[in-house]
Order: sequence, then C-alpha cells, then structure tokens
Amino acid sequence: MQDKNSIIIVEDEADILDVIDYNLSREGFKVSGYKDGEVGLSAIRECHPDLILLDLMLPGIDGLEICKKLKEDPLTRNIPVIMITAKTEESDVILGLGLGADDYLSKPFSPKELVARVKAVLRRAPLKDSREHQVRIDREGFVLDVHMHDVTVDGESALLTATEFRMLHFLASHPGRVFSRDHLLSRVTGNDTIVIDRNVDVHIRSIRKKLGENHRKLIETVRGVGYRFKY
Ligand code: CA
Repeated sequence: MQDKNSIIIVEDEADILDVIDYNLSREGFKVSGYKDGEVGLSAIRECHPDLILLDLMLPGIDGLEICKKLKEDPLTRNIPVIMITAKTEESDVILGLGLGADDYLSKPFSPKELVARVKAVLRRAPLKDSREHQVRIDREGFVLDVHMHDVTVDGESALLTATEFRMLHFLASHPGRVFSRDHLLSRVTGNDTIVIDRNVDVHIRSIRKKLGENHRKLIETVRGVGYRFKY
C-alpha cells in the first residue's frame, strides 16, 4: 500500500497556513504546519516529509536560511521545496531557486494553483520509497531478499524475527536517512495489531547481533535522534 505523501508547511501567517493545510489535506496529503522557522526545521529533520512548502519571510530564521540548511544536509537535500513568496520579493525567489528550491508560489495564489504546483513537484521528485520495491538489497556480503523474507550474511541466514526483518528492511530501503525510534516503531507495526516489544533499542541490538561483527555497523546509531542504515 502506498503511503499518503506527507507535506510540511512553514508559514507564520495563520490564515495562509490554514488555507494551504485545508486544501492539501482535502487532496489526501498528510499535512503538518509550523509557524516558527526553527520548529519547522526540526520537524523536517525529524519527519522527512515528501515535500516542503516554505514561506520566505519568517520571524527568526527565514525561509532562505532554512532552504540553505536543508540543501547543505545530505539527509534533507533531496526533499523538494516550494518557496512561498510575496510578489515584491522577486530577487529572493531567484536566490531561493539558486539555493535549490524546486519551485515557488507567489501570494496570493489560488488553491487550484497550489495543488497543481505541489503535484507537479512531487511527480518530478524521485520516488521516496523507490527502494522499498527493490526485492533484493545487496551490500558486501549482506543480502536482504524480500521474496525469501530473509537476510543472509556471508551466505548464512541471519534468522531474523518478522519484526526485525521489517525494521531492517525499512532502514535498508532508505540508506543514509535517520529515523527516530517512534518512526521505526510505527513502520514495523503499521496498522497491524500485532503485539511486539515497543523498545526499538532491543530490536536493533538483536539485529546487530545477528548481523555479526563484520556487518553490525551497517546500522548506525545517531545520538539523540535514532538509527540509520549506512549509506
Ligand atoms: Ca511570512
């Protein structure tokens, strides 16, 4: 099942934020809005949305600065950004596009224009979960085979539990991207009502042990954040 595309909006004007939220939610997107630049930036780093709508003029850290930070960071670099600008800020638009923003919307814009731009940018963006459809992930003796529902290390089955397999598959499908424990947990439990140990660290420890000395480092701990599969 394809997940709904998630979108983060950073916009300090409440009424504009509401209009965007309303129209994109109605289209089936999973939308979160933030009025503060710093908070929005942390949310983006935490949630890795499929798309960001970024207002240029924000109190504190402004849209250009946020865009710059996102594009400098390999973990957020590929998330498409649409800048929201006032008409008078044309030079900023050029600057924003120079910094790697994918498109821009000038205020005032119609809901129709908003939705069309968002869909166009998402269509152009590389598929977020493209590797999740990959049936085999092969990395120097580490092989994850979706059809076999198995991971082998140097040819030997790692004998993962179903939960461990799902967690490792999810991580390995997004190499280099950090996921919080909550995110990992929600991905392995999904909509199932299966009962599992909710302590993610326990699962990770077990997976690492099963991967063995040479491959345990494929799962990296990112202090204070969570885990990632080695890029
Ligand atoms: Ca603003």
